[in-house]
Amino acid sequence: MATSKRPAAKKKCGPCRGTGEISRPVQVGRKRRTVGHQTGMCLKCFGTGQAATT
Ligand SMILES: [Zn+2]
Repeated sequence: MATSKRPAAKKKCGPCRGTGEISRPVQVGRKRRTVGHQTGMCLKCFGTGQAATT
């Protein structure tokens, strides 16, 4: 179970570019008008900023 050092070769997550956060447009109304951007956790890497290796 002991997880020692991981390889340094880490892939950056694409959508968030390694930041772990992603900005998504905030849309309101039925016409989905974009009123701004909201920063949220990247669902691709779950906030780690590293591309998931599956
Ligand atoms: Zn990500």
